[in-house]
Amino acid sequence: MAEANTETTAIPAGTGYFAADSTLPFKTPDFSQISEEDYIPAFEQGMAIQKAEIAAIIDNPAPPTFENTIVALEKSGRMLGRVARVFFALTGSNTTDRLDDINTEISPKLTAHGDSITLNPELFARVKAVYDNRAAMTMTREDAKLLEDTYKGMVHAGALLTEAQRERVKAINSELSTVTTEFSQLARAAMNDNPVFFDSREDLAGLSDSDIQAAADLAAENGQPGKFAIALQNTTQQPLLPSMENRAAREKLFMASYHRADGRMDVDTRMLIAKIATLRAEKAALFGEADWASYAMWDRMAEKPATALGFMEQMVPALAATQRREAAMLNEAIAAEGGDYEVKPWDWYRYANKIKAERYDLDEDAVMEYFVLDKVLEDGVFHMAGKLYGLTFQRRTDLPVYHPDVWTYTVFDRDGSELGLFYFDPFQRSSKRGGAWMSNFVDQSHLWGTKPVIYNVLNIPKAPEGEVQLVSFDWVNTTFHEFGHALHGFFANQKYESLSGTATARDFVEYPSQVHEMWATWPSVLSNYAKHYKTGETIPDEMIAKIEAAAKFNQGYDFGEVVEAALLDMKWSALSPEEAAAIDTPEKVDAFERRSLEELGLEIDLVPPRYRSTYFNHIFSSPSGYSAGYYSYLWTEMLDRDSRQWFIDNGGLTRANGDHYRATVLSQGGTMDYFKMFENFAGRKPDVTPMLAARGLIAGEEAADSEVSDGALPAENAQ
Ligand SMILES: [Zn+2]
Repeated sequence: MAEANTETTAIPAGTGYFAADSTLPFKTPDFSQISEEDYIPAFEQGMAIQKAEIAAIIDNPAPPTFENTIVALEKSGRMLGRVARVFFALTGSNTTDRLDDINTEISPKLTAHGDSITLNPELFARVKAVYDNRAAMTMTREDAKLLEDTYKGMVHAGALLTEAQRERVKAINSELSTVTTEFSQLARAAMNDNPVFFDSREDLAGLSDSDIQAAADLAAENGQPGKFAIALQNTTQQPLLPSMENRAAREKLFMASYHRADGRMDVDTRMLIAKIATLRAEKAALFGEADWASYAMWDRMAEKPATALGFMEQMVPALAATQRREAAMLNEAIAAEGGDYEVKPWDWYRYANKIKAERYDLDEDAVMEYFVLDKVLEDGVFHMAGKLYGLTFQRRTDLPVYHPDVWTYTVFDRDGSELGLFYFDPFQRSSKRGGAWMSNFVDQSHLWGTKPVIYNVLNIPKAPEGEVQLVSFDWVNTTFHEFGHALHGFFANQKYESLSGTATARDFVEYPSQVHEMWATWPSVLSNYAKHYKTGETIPDEMIAKIEAAAKFNQGYDFGEVVEAALLDMKWSALSPEEAAAIDTPEKVDAFERRSLEELGLEIDLVPPRYRSTYFNHIFSSPSGYSAGYYSYLWTEMLDRDSRQWFIDNGGLTRANGDHYRATVLSQGGTMDYFKMFENFAGRKPDVTPMLAARGLIAGEEAADSEVSDGALPAENAQ
C-alpha cells in the first residue's frame, strides 16, 4: 500500500476558540472567551482533524517507526482533547440544559470516533510492526510503556481477531447490551415496583410521622388506601430497618429486599445472570483468555482474578471472627432488652446503631465548628503539602473562572518554580453533579511543554450569606482526598499525556488520594487548621479519637457485606465457558451464589452481601461496567493503609518522606508496573495487615475500646 501514497495527507485547520492553545498562563482555558455555541463545531472539527491525522499516519510511505506511528498517534487529536477537557469539566460542575443537549448529541459520535481509531486495521498493522520490532529498539521506559499500552489496547478491542471472530464479538457485544439492559430494567422494577405492604400503623412503630405518612401515601398510590407501603432501596439492607420496633415487620421488609429478584416474587433475573456470565466467558475465550476477569483485568494492577481473590480470602479469618464477635455483642444487647431471640440481618443495625450512639455520642454540629473552609484548605491541605513536599501556594484573582465560587491558586514547587495551577470549586449547586472529583484542564506533558492545570470539585453545602463557612468532618476528609489526586497530577513528570499523572489503572488511581486522607487528622496538621471558629481553640483530642474509633465500629457488617459483594463479582467473572454454560437453571444460579459465599467462610446468614447477584447492578446492568472491578475499592484501601503504616514507621510528616513518595509513586504516572512502583516506595510488597487493623478487625477489641475511654489518639496517629 505504501508505494501509491507519496503525497502527504492534508490536515484541515480548526477555527474558533479551541483551534489553538489558550494564551493565558499555563494555557488554562479562558472562560471569558468560550461560548456554548463553540462546542459542537469544535468537536466536529476536532474529530475531522484527528481522522486526517490518522490517515496521514497510515499513508506515510516511510516504514512504521515508534516516532512516525506511536508518537504520531499520541500527538493526534489535540483540538479534540482541548474541547473535550473543558466541555466535560463543565457538564460535571456547571452544566446547563444546552450543555446537556450537546452531551447527548456528541457522546455517541465520540464513541464511534474512538472505535474508528482503535479498530482501524491499517493503523493496527503499523502499530503491530513497531511492537513486533520492540526487542531491537532502544527506548526509554516511558516509550516502551506507551508502545505496549497502545498495542495492547488495540488488541483488547479485537485487532488480532479473525474476521469471523470479530463478527462473533460484535454479536456477543450486541447480545450483552440487550441482556444487560434487560437486567437493569428488571432489577429496577424489582426495586421500584415492589413496595412492601403493611396492614397497620403498629407494624411501623418507631418510624417518624413523616415516614409513616409517606408509607400511607405510597400504599394509596398503589391502590391500597388505608394500608402502608415502604419502597425498597438499592442495597440488601434497608435504611428504615433500624428504626422499626416491630420485629416481624423488620423481617418482612428485609426478606422482600433479599428475595426481590430471585423468583420468589414477580421478578426473576437469574437466567439473565446465567446468560451474561456465559456470553462474557465466551467473549473472553475468543481473545484467548481463560475467563472474563482475565480479559477485563488486562490493564489493572492486580491483573489476574486469582490475585484479587487471594487478596479477599486473606481477610476472611479476621473478618469472620469480627462478625461473630459483633453478633455476640448484639445478642447481649438484645437479651439486655428482654429479647428472646438471636440477632438476624433485619435486627443488626437496630442494635448496632444503639450501641454506637451510646459509645460514641458524637455531636456532628459541634465537630463542624472547628472546620472553617478556607482554613481547611490553606492551613490544612496546603500546610500538609508544604511540610511533605515543600510546595507553596498563591491565591490569584486575575484568571477568568467558570463560576464566581471557584478559587484559583498558583502552585510553586520546592525550588520556588511554578508547578501548575489549581482550581478549587467547593460548593454544592444545582448545576453540579453529586460527589467530589479531580481532573485536569491541561495535562502535564514534556512532549507539549505543558504544566498541569488541575481542578478539585466538591459539594459542600454553602453557608448562608454572611455566615462563617463551616465544613463537616466528612468533607474535610474529602478535601484532603481530592487534593491527593491533585498532587498525583501536579507531580506528573511524563513525556506523554496518556501516561501522565493520574492516568493509571482503576485499581490504583484511588490509592494516592486515599493516603492523603491520613494527614487530615495528623496532630501537627490538625493543630494548624482545626480551630474553633469563635474561640480559636484547637479541636480537642477526644473529639478526633471518637471520630476515628467510631469509624472502626460495626466493620464485621459494613466491611463484610462489601467483601462478599466483591467476591461474588469475581466468582461470576472467573467462570470458564464450560462452567458458565453449566449454570443453566435458576436453581443452579442460586446454588452457585450460595456455594461461592459459603466457600469464602464468612457469616453469610448474619451478614449477607451488600448486593445479591440478582440485583447487583454494578456488574450486570451494562456490558462491562464494574464487572471484575468491584474489588478495586478494597484493593486501593490495602495500598493506602499499608502506605500510611510506612509513613508512621518512618517518622510521619517529613520532607524526606514526602520527597520519597513523590519520587517513587506520585511522579511516575502510568509508566511502570504498579507492584514495582509500590515496592520502590515501601521496600516490600503490599500487605493487608494495616488495612485490617485500621478497620478494627485485628489487634483486638480491647484496643478499640480503650481508645475511646482514655481519650488517647488511635495508635496510627499517636505520634
Ligand atoms: Zn478519589
